[in-house]
Amino acid sequence: MRKQLRLGIMGGTFDPIHYGHLVAAEEALVQFNLDRVVFMPTGEPVRKTHRLVTPAEHRYLMTVIATASNPDFEVSRLEIDRPGVTYTVDTMLELRTIHGSETELFFITGADAILDILTWKDSQRLADTCTLIAATRPGYDLSRLSQRPESAEFKIELMEVPALAISSTDIRTRIVAKRPVRYLLPEAVATYIRKNRLYEGAA
Ligand code: ATP
Ligand code: MG
Repeated sequence: MRKQLRLGIMGGTFDPIHYGHLVAAEEALVQFNLDRVVFMPTGEPVRKTHRLVTPAEHRYLMTVIATASNPDFEVSRLEIDRPGVTYTVDTMLELRTIHGSETELFFITGADAILDILTWKDSQRLADTCTLIAATRPGYDLSRLSQRPESAEFKIELMEVPALAISSTDIRTRIVAKRPVRYLLPEAVATYIRKNRLYEGAA
C-alpha cells in the first residue's frame, strides 16, 4: 500500500514572506513528520481590505525566492491563479484532488489567526478536511485557544516556535521609515524588494 502523504500547507499573504513563516513551516515539517510544506500565497485577500495588498505575482516570487533552497518546501499558484474570492476550504479540497484522497492535510497557521479561522465561512467543512497546526507567537497566551467555545470541531495541534516577533506589517513599516530589515527576512527577498521598490510608499 502506498504511504499516506502528509502535506503541510502554509497559507498567507506573504507581503512580504519573512523568517517567522519559514521557521514555523520548518518546525511543523519536523514536529509533525510532514513530507513537505506547500506555501500558498493568497490571491485577492478577503480580509485585508483596509490596505492595498502587493500584486500577487510579486508576493508569489518573493515566496519562491525565500523557499528555493529548501527541498521540502514548495510554492503553489492555486490561490493566486483562481479567479475571484478564494476560500481555504476550496484549496484544501483541490489539494486532495491533486494529491489523492488519502492525503493528510495540515494547515499551518499562527495561533493568533486560529480564532479568526473559527469564524470563516464553512468552518466546519474546513475542519473536516485538515488538522490545524497552531504556531505560537511571542506573547500569545495559549490558554485562550482551549477556553474558546468552538463553533466548529477542529483538530488543533499546538506547536511552540522560537520567539519570533517578526511580522510583515513591521517589515513594511521599517522599509517606509528606512529602518533595517536585515535578519528579519532572507537577504534575497530584501534585494527583490529594493529592486522592485516595494513598500516604499505606504505600509
Ligand atoms: P501581516 O503583518 O501583514 O498580517 P504576517 O506577518 O502576519 O503579515 P501573514 O502572511 O499574514 O504574515 O501570515 C501568514 C501565516 O503565518 C499566518 O497564519 C500567521 O499567523 C503566520 N505567522 C506570521 N508571522 C509569524 C511568526 N513570526 N511566527 C509564526 N507564525 C507567523
Ligand atoms: Mg497576519
